[in-house]
Amino acid sequence: MSKRISKGGCHCGRIRIEVIGEPIASVHCHCSDCQKITGAAAEAAALFPVENIKVTKGEPKSYPTQGESGESLHRYFCGNCSTPLIGKPDAMPDIASITIPSLDDSSFITEIGHIYTDHAASWTDIPKDAQKFPKMPPLG
Ligand SMILES: [Zn+2]
Ligand SMILES: [Zn+2]
Repeated sequence: MSKRISKGGCHCGRIRIEVIGEPIASVHCHCSDCQKITGAAAEAAALFPVENIKVTKGEPKSYPTQGESGESLHRYFCGNCSTPLIGKPDAMPDIASITIPSLDDSSFITEIGHIYTDHAASWTDIPKDAQKFPKMPPLG
């Protein structure tokens, strides 16, 4: 079992995070919320067991958004520079996500799936051979 520790944080440096081990899954989330929050076509997120994500410096702000499941996703971000960092879904309390670009070195993530492709922007391209899910795929 690999025990890689990956460090990361927000753009201004007030919040630092660490994730332990390999992600359960890595996805580009094309949902409308992720587009709005990241200012991009999709949010690149990696899912980990919730205990493998630690905030090592500072205290992120958070607010709940309502996902398609009807349950809340709590989005954590830097209150100073607004970098999105962590997502915690009420629907899956054992799992949390981090934004992949918040890692200092994310080169160990080499494969990424695409979720909520039903909502994908008309101006983005999803590779033809990529793993695609119109909504949230079942985990595990
Ligand atoms: Zn910051
Ligand atoms: Zn999303």
